[in-house]
Amino acid sequence: MKQEENNEIPRAIIFDTTLRDGEQSSGFHMLPEEKLQIAKQLSKLGVDIIEAGFAISSPGDFESINQIAKEVGTPDGPIICSLARAVEEDVEAAAKAIEPAHKKRIHTFIATSQIHIEGKFKKTKEWVIEQAVKAIKKAKTYVDDVQFSCEDFGRTDKDYTVEVVTEAINAGATTINLPDTVGWLTPSECYEKVKYVIEKIREKGLDAIFSVHNHNDFGMGTATSIEAFKAGARQIECTINGIGERAGNTSMEEIVAILKERNIGKTNINTQLIGESSKLLSKITKIYPQPNKAIVGKNAFAHEAGIHQHGVQQEKKTYETMNPEDYGVKSIITFGPRSGRNALKSKFESLNINLTEDQFQTASTNFINKSDKLKEVDDADIISSINNSEIPIHHEFISYHPIHNNGNYEVEVKIKTQDGEKSETSSGNGQVDAGIKAIKKLIQKNIELQDFKVSSESPGSDSKGITKITISKNSWKVVGKSQDNDVVTSSFKAFIDAINRINFIENYFKN
Ligand SMILES: [Zn+2]
Repeated sequence: MKQEENNEIPRAIIFDTTLRDGEQSSGFHMLPEEKLQIAKQLSKLGVDIIEAGFAISSPGDFESINQIAKEVGTPDGPIICSLARAVEEDVEAAAKAIEPAHKKRIHTFIATSQIHIEGKFKKTKEWVIEQAVKAIKKAKTYVDDVQFSCEDFGRTDKDYTVEVVTEAINAGATTINLPDTVGWLTPSECYEKVKYVIEKIREKGLDAIFSVHNHNDFGMGTATSIEAFKAGARQIECTINGIGERAGNTSMEEIVAILKERNIGKTNINTQLIGESSKLLSKITKIYPQPNKAIVGKNAFAHEAGIHQHGVQQEKKTYETMNPEDYGVKSIITFGPRSGRNALKSKFESLNINLTEDQFQTASTNFINKSDKLKEVDDADIISSINNSEIPIHHEFISYHPIHNNGNYEVEVKIKTQDGEKSETSSGNGQVDAGIKAIKKLIQKNIELQDFKVSSESPGSDSKGITKITISKNSWKVVGKSQDNDVVTSSFKAFIDAINRINFIENYFKN
């Protein structure tokens, strides 16, 4: 019975365009070796098709697609695809670039909405169909697998779409993409429109795999793609972290999770690799998804409010609709003034601190008062709430002095400790690294640097540098913070602040 039910769930083809639509968006450009790394990860992840680039757009993009076709387009690997306008030279370049792949696809497109036909081409609807047919026929001379897109389908007349698609299929297109290029349609409009086109085509005795490629201009990319799938589209185009032109594309992790958790569709994606794929892309592009991003955002499975913490501790499903581990990410409990007493109690337990009921009552009251004034709370803040103690400043930054040594970075750092002033010199791959190493020598502590973030207070060059450094020792984790007109100084101060916080915890356990 179970088996039969499963068999009824349709298979969704995942067409990834992280390396084309995502890569061409502002701030997301990647080097060829980085693109190759992403392509390898996409293959591991189990995507069906990798749109590796737009071959004619630049020699670099051509080379990159070619390299991906060679190295990732193996017999068991995904289909490798290049984009091409409905122009002969584009199709030729695409064909050449994907040539080494075992499974290859040419994806050609032309805009079909009146806004584009009149405003961009200054041509007629008939001209558009002619261009499309010519390009598809040309592509067919190189590959069997040809995808055709009616760009701006979202704002294209539906009966004209049927006309274009009919000719495209007759010319040999095997996948028909109906993209909402500017994210215009609401989910129900998308459902109706996609359904209409598919039905009309099938009434003519024609068929193809229908696809969607929906943008997120109004935040509806994922919603419209899911509706299109319900309407019969079987291929969904998407990107990791939802990157893409303007407000981005349909996000792969969201699509895959909805299909899976709501039993709407099956994919070939190894969902446990989603977390690491998202991280790899962020690491390469240096752009991280916003904390509240579904599935892969830092807060996607973080619980801070007491009621929620209590809920997930009793029964995960109260506030977690899916198991984060299934997506290679973790559920976390964070602390703030609205955290619950139960969560605080288990936090003390996990820190190996046993408090009597009276001590816990006091600590809990202190913690609420204290955390109300803080933006974020670390282990030192939690422990300091037991006796409402201040975190003492054991070490204080005095100054640093860069030493020029034949292009090597060497920095001398001077700090104040309880035994007076001390200084130490070290080298590193930059001033910050050299100085941090010098401070480590001075303080002699076994600590692990977990995170290092520098941001600026405002856009100007006169802005203050804000540094946040997370370090850990044993199972303790603390965050040192500082700001200064000089970024290097602010880094050293934040590091020393973090060390003072670790010191405080160590002394608590000594006494
Ligand atoms: Zn797009």
